[in-house]
Amino acid sequence: MALIVKKFGGSSVATPEKIMAVAQRVLREKAPEDKVVVVVSAMGDTTDDLVNLAKDLVGQPYQYTREMDMLLSTGEQITIALLAMTFNKLGQPAISLTGAQAGINTNKAYTKGKILGIKPKRVLDELAKGNIVVVAGFQGVNADGDILTLGRGGSDTSAVALAGALKADACEIFTDVDGVYSADPRVVKDARRMKEITYTEMLEMARLGAGVMQPRSVEMGKHYGVPIHVRSTFTCDSGTFIREEYTVEEKEFIIRGVTHDTNVAKIAILGLPDRPGVAYKIFAALAKSNIDVDMIVQSIRNTDKNIIDMVFTVAQPDLPQAKALVEELGNEMHVFGILVDYNVAKVSAVGAGMLGHPGIAANMFGALSDAGVNIEVISTSEISISCLIQADKVKEAVNAIHTRFFPRES
Ligand code: ADP
Ligand code: ASP
Ligand code: MG
Repeated sequence: MALIVKKFGGSSVATPEKIMAVAQRVLREKAPEDKVVVVVSAMGDTTDDLVNLAKDLVGQPYQYTREMDMLLSTGEQITIALLAMTFNKLGQPAISLTGAQAGINTNKAYTKGKILGIKPKRVLDELAKGNIVVVAGFQGVNADGDILTLGRGGSDTSAVALAGALKADACEIFTDVDGVYSADPRVVKDARRMKEITYTEMLEMARLGAGVMQPRSVEMGKHYGVPIHVRSTFTCDSGTFIREEYTVEEKEFIIRGVTHDTNVAKIAILGLPDRPGVAYKIFAALAKSNIDVDMIVQSIRNTDKNIIDMVFTVAQPDLPQAKALVEELGNEMHVFGILVDYNVAKVSAVGAGMLGHPGIAANMFGALSDAGVNIEVISTSEISISCLIQADKVKEAVNAIHTRFFPRES
């Protein structure tokens, strides 16, 4: 007997026919004694459609609110009901549960909720009765009893966290690609599928834009020690395992992946006073509003005037709020001006092997230079290097860096 959590993303359940195919596949793969939890996303582009509905009606102020989560969470509820009905029609007892019913408890950060804990008693009770339990991804409930969503792509996190809480034997993430690749296969035609990748490298790739897994889900996998199996909904290919260590001898790459992120915006504050506490004031205000700041560059001091410039990036949906905050502080500090740019993207090279391998940065910058791509901001971590570039160059940039680190096999 095995307890298995399977997650199907939006494109895997986009139509009634696809929902039927998912149900049939789950039943085909289920041994009679297996206990199965299926986590699903909203059908197709439903979440985007819901976001746009709110935007059309009330504009930007919709963000980060209780009502937004009330709206967004409905997408997954449609899928769970339809999938549970489909199992029943196929003769398999099944029950659908919302995030709250499945015991997924979150903090109070609307639309960016974090799972604080899972009390899976109801799920276990329903499994014991012989049901397949179909759980709505992307949602949980806070201490006030309000529905929260877990950030875009959050169904991955629901699935991995449930697998951890249930001590599941396996957690399978079914999606529209057949595994994790060395770059987004929609952008880099000769990207390579990996047999396995460590949590650490996958987390960095996800954090830097590899949308195949939500970063928080990889953190959850590492935290609970749940191996995550990423595979295709539409084929039976072996996919990619995300786990603590490599287990098979793969050709050793210093760089494991090249990622890109177009969900980025740049803010530049020009002419800030050069004195202690200025950076603190700005970034504390952003943090208080739950805005994640990514790349940060402070220019060197202009000795004549005791002023500096500061450039940083935020996620695009955070830009209006970040801009308003920075403008308020900028007025107080009599800065020269504030510039914002939506048309930027971040490209990154990721690999634990770059530790102790000098020259990786030079190699990456060389690839961008050869492709005629200008670098605006650079940031690094122990296992990644990222460059901010103009968004219209992103495809060329990712391909140039990928070709440099993964030369085509002749
Ligand atoms: P789902 O709806 O199943 O959650 P997503 O669209 O969230 O699917 O994630 C799958 C997509 O992630 C793929 O279609 C692919 O374009 C994209 N992707 C980005 N980077 C990678 C990568 N390194 N490997 C595989 N897929 C990636
Ligand atoms: N439906 C949500 C989204 O589109 C959650 C998910 O698909 O994982 O972001
Ligand atoms: Mg996803």
